[in-house]
Amino acid sequence: MTEMDLKGVVACPACGKEFVFAYSDAKGHASMACVRCTRISMVDYERLEATLISPKRRTNQR
Ligand SMILES: [Zn+2]
Repeated sequence: MTEMDLKGVVACPACGKEFVFAYSDAKGHASMACVRCTRISMVDYERLEATLISPKRRTNQR
């Protein structure tokens, strides 16, 4: 199975789980929820960093 070039992996700032796989054409930012702790991070695909953010809109998770 051929995969796209993996650019890097971004770990959750809260729990350390690697939750984002960035491919070579990934750019910009996106908010992603961690699969383990469900906290939301803003992921910078160019610097391969994640920063915890507060959700813009509250959900009923808590
Ligand atoms: Zn996490």
